[in-house]
Amino acid sequence: MNHKHNLFGDNIMEFPKTVRKHCPFCRTHEEHQVKRVKAGGRAKAAFKKGDRYRRVKMNNGYGGTPYPIQANSKRYGVKTSKKVLIKLICGKCGKAHQYNLGRARKFELVQKD
Ligand SMILES: [Zn+2]
Repeated sequence: MNHKHNLFGDNIMEFPKTVRKHCPFCRTHEEHQVKRVKAGGRAKAAFKKGDRYRRVKMNNGYGGTPYPIQANSKRYGVKTSKKVLIKLICGKCGKAHQYNLGRARKFELVQKD
């Protein structure tokens, strides 16, 4: 399974609901229940308070922003994919650890046949 290389194109990442993975607590491979970790979202304060005021001040008056702005492209540099982080719950000890799957536009948990 090459989840990590599913980075480009119209990708829908599918992942089984249960996987056999290494449990760092049991130190063996165990059946794990897979759950999606909800993204925490972007940090609300991207700048510290002082930085934010300084930035506002820099943008004021003549000259405008000191940083280059792409004209007429509000979504410039905005990614359409999201990082997928899953929670693996060990079936033996019940403890959970997280696993990063990389970027995907869509992520689905599928029932393994
Ligand atoms: Zn375990």
